[in-house]
Amino acid sequence: MHAEASSPHLPTPSATPVFIARGLTKVYKMGEVEVHALRGVDLEIYASEFVVLLGPSGSGKSTLLNILGGLDTPTSGSAMWRDHDLTHANDAELTRYRREHVGFVFQFYNLIPSLTALENVALVTEMSDQPLPPEEALALVNLGDRLNHYPSQMSGGEQQRVAIARAIAKRPDVLLCDEPTGALDYATGKLVLEVIARINAELGTTAAVITHNAPIAQIADRVMRMADGRIASIERNAAKLRPEQISW
Ligand code: ADP
Repeated sequence: MHAEASSPHLPTPSATPVFIARGLTKVYKMGEVEVHALRGVDLEIYASEFVVLLGPSGSGKSTLLNILGGLDTPTSGSAMWRDHDLTHANDAELTRYRREHVGFVFQFYNLIPSLTALENVALVTEMSDQPLPPEEALALVNLGDRLNHYPSQMSGGEQQRVAIARAIAKRPDVLLCDEPTGALDYATGKLVLEVIARINAELGTTAAVITHNAPIAQIADRVMRMADGRIASIERNAAKLRPEQISW
């Protein structure tokens, strides 16, 4: 047990909010039909914090994460990353924001099949200012011995860990993960969560992980439950668990 890691008395890893959202709404217009994906979301996420976004399918989790990651913009309200206004940024500004500050991990790994693990990661580090060496990023996800494997030669969990190595190799400030275990079996999913939790703990990378799997919320500092486009509750975990301590 990591007694110190599960103390309810520990303060938030940092009291500095990196994300501040106020009154976020998102309306998708599908012909005549309007889909209200977000109906007024207020939140703060703090530096080095580990947040889990929980909620049923369709509750707005991906829409919220995409706005925080600069992949989408809200219909109204405001979203700030430090002093970057994500609400009024143009495409070029959002692209720069994503490139410099955000690592994404999705349910599907989106690796380039004709490139090895090392080459998939190196592709990203070539575009970054102070990247981790690709070998180091892959070692961090326990794939130091799979550098020259192609995606087709790796399991789903290994491919997801390459995707995580790729996301962290540019030393992002935030790691945004949308159902990172969604396509993985139980044991492999746990391994991937362990990697994300370790990166958050060791590199201090602020992490937000979407899941519809309630027990996974136990590994977070705070849990935001979404329902019908709103944040229904925000709770701090009194005892944050390590992924190997949970089951679902
Ligand atoms: P979750 O991640 O919780 O499953 P989403 O944010 O993906 O929820 O979706 C919220 C709502 O917005 C859903 O009703 C979904 O169908 C709708 N939605 C999401 N993306 C789009 C889109 N690009 N166009 C139209 N509707 C969308």
